[in-house]
Amino acid sequence: WPIEEMRAQGFTAYYPRMMGYLPAVKNHAEEGKIGTAERDIIALGIAIAAIIMFIGTGGSVLPDIVRALLGDGAAPDAVLTNALLLNIALIVFGWRRYNELTREIGERRRAEETARKLAETDPLTGCLNRRSLAEATEQMRRKANASGRGIAFVMIDLDNFKQVNDLNGHIVGDGLLMEIAARMRAELPPDALLARIGGDEFAFAMSYDPSRPGQVDEQVLRLFEGIGDSLVIDGLAIETTMSAGIAADHEDSLPCLSIDSAQDLMHRADMAMYQAKKQGKNHYRWFEIGIENEIRFRNEIEAGIRRGLAKGEFVPFYEQQVDLETGEIVGFEMLARWQSPELGLVSPEIFIPLAEDMGVIAELSEQLIRQAFSDAQEWDSHLTLAVNISPLQLRDEWFAQKLLKLMVEQNFPAQRLDIEVTESCLHEDVDTVRSMLQSLKNQGVRVSLDDFGTGYSSLAQLQTLPFDRLKIDRSFIAEMKAADTSTRIVDAIISLGQTLDMPIIAEGIEDEKILSDLRKMGRLKGQGYLYGRPETSAQVRERLKGLGLLSSVDKGAETAPTPPSVDLPGKKAAFR
Ligand code: C2E
Ligand code: MG
Ligand code: MG
Repeated sequence: WPIEEMRAQGFTAYYPRMMGYLPAVKNHAEEGKIGTAERDIIALGIAIAAIIMFIGTGGSVLPDIVRALLGDGAAPDAVLTNALLLNIALIVFGWRRYNELTREIGERRRAEETARKLAETDPLTGCLNRRSLAEATEQMRRKANASGRGIAFVMIDLDNFKQVNDLNGHIVGDGLLMEIAARMRAELPPDALLARIGGDEFAFAMSYDPSRPGQVDEQVLRLFEGIGDSLVIDGLAIETTMSAGIAADHEDSLPCLSIDSAQDLMHRADMAMYQAKKQGKNHYRWFEIGIENEIRFRNEIEAGIRRGLAKGEFVPFYEQQVDLETGEIVGFEMLARWQSPELGLVSPEIFIPLAEDMGVIAELSEQLIRQAFSDAQEWDSHLTLAVNISPLQLRDEWFAQKLLKLMVEQNFPAQRLDIEVTESCLHEDVDTVRSMLQSLKNQGVRVSLDDFGTGYSSLAQLQTLPFDRLKIDRSFIAEMKAADTSTRIVDAIISLGQTLDMPIIAEGIEDEKILSDLRKMGRLKGQGYLYGRPETSAQVRERLKGLGLLSSVDKGAETAPTPPSVDLPGKKAAFR
């Protein structure tokens, strides 16, 4: 497929590896030679003519020669004898040449066949490759359409192949791919097409009875089971799962979207697979009209995030953290917001996961933290600043140094900073995370375990990782709302905190009842809409000014210029 055509199909976004597709191995020069060889009947003509001449001259000269040799006659005519000998030489020459040519053509044909196979198949698994799969699927589609059958195209991606490869090396990785290809082949119907189309991407196409699309689901489920069965490669037990996307050309649910080519099918199956991955792996999904729009929307948001980063559209909001006993503000949690000119004020729950996927979370976080340090300089120095840190940032072994450097640059005291990490950071390399958190703690930074209770931290990890406090997830606090609800989980977390000597902060305090229940449970800190929603830096400044909690430098200062008020998405025009 020409690259331009692939771009026109919009394939480059989904098929980056396609750029490395195998070149066509048709060698026109070779083909020309074979053609010439096939047409080289001259040699054969010479041999045949020589044989005819041999019969003609041989008929009169040979008896003379025999008689002369027996001493029974005169010597044969010298010219005719020479002509006969020449004839014999020509026959031998023509015949040998003809044989050589035939052998040469056979060899070339075989070489051509090998080259064609190499061009069409994946050398590791022997499956078809992407290019040949497209051609073969197109043929299969035409044949199936003519006989009233449907074609289902299934795109498959292994979920954890990279880790297997990185951890165990390429030999095990290759072994895994070969084993998986063999298992797939064994599970698929004999006339199905199976291809490996990228590092850990496979695809297959099968024909099915359009009145029974469930056949395709069953087939895919069998593959999921087949692959999930214990895999032992090179003596190592490996667990792997896959994600799959299905597109078919006989979908009643999509009457308005006709399939014009195998490439349409592949493109759709790829989009469905991409969505299956997004939904948490080890899943399969059929292509639906919405998927195309979802992906387009996501691409637009991603482009918007990149632009927003360059233009400084991400801003910190702040939520009060309060001593529940006294009601005094003890600090603020910084919560990111995106002031998008197109979308208005966007929640971090939308853009943080995207920024993580796009690999820009560290850059985004740095922008926000820098701004937060500068905002917090205006607050009274006993007020703390909590910032959320993505587990991906903790993969960077230089994270602690980068954060400390930022503090030095902004002259922000480490004792005022609290970083919030979630339990998912415990899935990372725990030793690295521990030493990073420890070095931050040594500088005076506090570390909180955010959303406690929603993840998988074990008690052992709680003890070995240097957390300073636990934040009870707001889902547990929300359960306390109803008058008769038990507070047992919150109770248990609080006593766990006391046992481990870790102060507790409760998130999501929304009403007086929750507050009074929590107060009864011990001396806690907390935050929630009861105290106030997250606010802009200007609003926080106003609030602190009213409470006499601005830093001594700022207290006497004139009112700072008020940044635009950015509370509601409806006010988006202010940020254009
Ligand atoms: P989180 O750290 O658990 O933050 C608390 C979230 O609960 C905030 O949502 C806050 O607005 C909300 N919340 C606070 N009090 C209440 C309440 O009383 N009721 C209810 N229903 N909700 C309450 P937000 O701002 O949408 O942030 C969501 C999540 O996004 C945060 O959860 C945090 O995990 C993440 N996040 C926010 N900013 C950043 C950031 O700068 N970097 C990273 N990595 N993650 C961030
Ligand atoms: Mg938090
Ligand atoms: Mg939280």
